[in-house]
Amino acid sequence: MPHGRNQHADHETYRKFEQEGLLFDDPRSLSWAGQDWGRLVTRPPLAVLRPRTAEDVAAFARFAAEQSCPLVPRAEGHSSAGQAQAAGGFVVDTRALDAVHEIGADRIVVGAGARWSRVLAETLPRGLTPPVLTDYLELSVGGTLSVGGIGGATQHHGLQVDTVLSLDVVTPDGELVTCSADQHADLFDNVRAGYGKYGIIVSATIRLIPAHTRARRYQLYYDDLSVFLADQRRLLAAGCFDYLEGQVDLTDDGTNRYQLELASFYSDQPPRRCADALAELAYHRGSEEIEETTYFEFLDRLADAERMLREAGLWDQCHPWLNLFLPDSQAESIVAGAVKDLVPADIGEGGFILVYPFHAGKVTAPRLELPDEPVVFLFAVDRESSCDDKATTQRMLIANELIHDHATAAGATTYLGAPVAAAPGSQPPVLS
Ligand SMILES: Cc1cc2nc3c(=O)[nH]c(=O)nc-3n(C[C@H](O)[C@H](O)[C@H](O)COP(=O)(O)OP(=O)(O)OC[C@H]3O[C@@H](n4cnc5c(N)ncnc54)[C@H](O)[C@@H]3O)c2cc1C
Repeated sequence: MPHGRNQHADHETYRKFEQEGLLFDDPRSLSWAGQDWGRLVTRPPLAVLRPRTAEDVAAFARFAAEQSCPLVPRAEGHSSAGQAQAAGGFVVDTRALDAVHEIGADRIVVGAGARWSRVLAETLPRGLTPPVLTDYLELSVGGTLSVGGIGGATQHHGLQVDTVLSLDVVTPDGELVTCSADQHADLFDNVRAGYGKYGIIVSATIRLIPAHTRARRYQLYYDDLSVFLADQRRLLAAGCFDYLEGQVDLTDDGTNRYQLELASFYSDQPPRRCADALAELAYHRGSEEIEETTYFEFLDRLADAERMLREAGLWDQCHPWLNLFLPDSQAESIVAGAVKDLVPADIGEGGFILVYPFHAGKVTAPRLELPDEPVVFLFAVDRESSCDDKATTQRMLIANELIHDHATAAGATTYLGAPVAAAPGSQPPVLS
């Protein structure tokens, strides 16, 4: 790499990293690190560090601290608002730190750059699984532990950050520290859901539980939001399904359908324990879709959607995403206000809307800011727009801002960071 491209390039430590082939400032690396899934914020760093070991990260962190330069970890870059970017600083590409260090009867020690699909590839043959998985498995361990990591099993186990036993972290001043609830607890509490600001996770020890081999998945449909939410609350209280989520399905005629998604995991016979709970639900009888799959097929169900979106050219478009935690008492009015009059074009072909509840008491990681009520709903309005169509993208950003401002005034909190703001002077949305 030629010198002089940034003000740090002549420094002895910088040159040492460069000579070892760990620092990159070629256009491809800078553009990779300056962009993310959202494609709404672009801020290339000065250079990208591709460490081989935790010690590389620590040594470079000491250098960055000395130079007062931002140092930001990034793995799969599925952020939507530039969270893993480092303008005027360095990005640490953690993807190579993906080794499985140890696996035991109740835990796995894995590098922060490993994706959850890799974790499962190690644990499932041993009959074990992480308690909570995100809907999409190609996210990194470090990436989801830095935000929270929510999924349909959160109702039972909290978020992924609540299932971590300990972390190896490089602190901003370049110390490599092992932290847990008993050891350097402040660091442990700050790093989980800390968006990479309090240290770089280099490896994580994650709790494992016995895995079933099969899943029975139910999709049940409702026309009425109030009835749908009431059934979600009833199922949360019953706790008999292993997985509980839900979606708003928009239609062109402006009528919404609400889809309850449930799953039971089993190994021999499908469990009978939820039969009573199912019988009491008020979904449209006859609308139900029931599917039997392997446990892994169920967890990996977004892989097909990803393939289709990639083929349709929608995966790499702009993603104005909004993710909120709603207090139970306000959930219905916030969701009703947000989805009223929405049609599919308002969220784009690759967009989706999720709504599902969990017990706030299951969440122990203190950095996760939740509304102060026992039951909280995740509400995600995740839109997709052509990056060439700037007017539509701006309209979506403003629509998200309106929902965000209204919801937070009613006690909601943001998840995955604040949504990207629309450009000043953009026109308010004329919702279809
Ligand atoms: C298709 C899709 C589906 C998703 N589904 C879910 C879901 O079901 N549930 C859910 O909770 N989220 C979901 N997300 C959001 C996702 O969890 C976050 O965006 C997550 O941060 C992405 O992980 P990543 O490896 O891409 O992280 P990156 O985008 O690379 O980084 C994200 C953040 O984590 C920090 N970070 C990354 N690595 C480390 C590290 N080693 N140490 C410290 N900080 C680090 C970064 O600095 C940044 O702030 C989804 C995202 C997409 C695109």
